Amino acid sequence: MNALLEWKVKMENKKIKLKEGVIMAGLKLPMQKVLIEANCLWAVMGKDLVIASALDGEHSAGSYHYYGYALDFRTTHFTQDQALQLVKQLKEVLPSAYTVIWHRTHIHVQFNME
Ligand SMILES: [Zn+2]
Repeated sequence: MNALLEWKVKMENKKIKLKEGVIMAGLKLPMQKVLIEANCLWAVMGKDLVIASALDGEHSAGSYHYYGYALDFRTTHFTQDQALQLVKQLKEVLPSAYTVIWHRTHIHVQFNME
């Protein structure tokens, strides 16, 4: 198998998984780009993308999660170096309107609404 085909197979085998209880309904359109980019980056690392939180869960008052403008991606199955690399890559691929923060157990990504 050539490298490109191997990469394609690897990508196609990787899925987006939801932690039990995660509510995706109400997620705003700008977050679709985040899912697409994150899924690619995770696939390159050979891992499924696991969403730890979207509109569910308890977040700080005024959190973008409540407005459908934030997603948390689980990072507990990565080493610290890998998680930091993913944060760096997400910052590179997403426009400046997005904020990416690592919270050890997860990477929080939000779209900064006006
Ligand atoms: Zn979050």
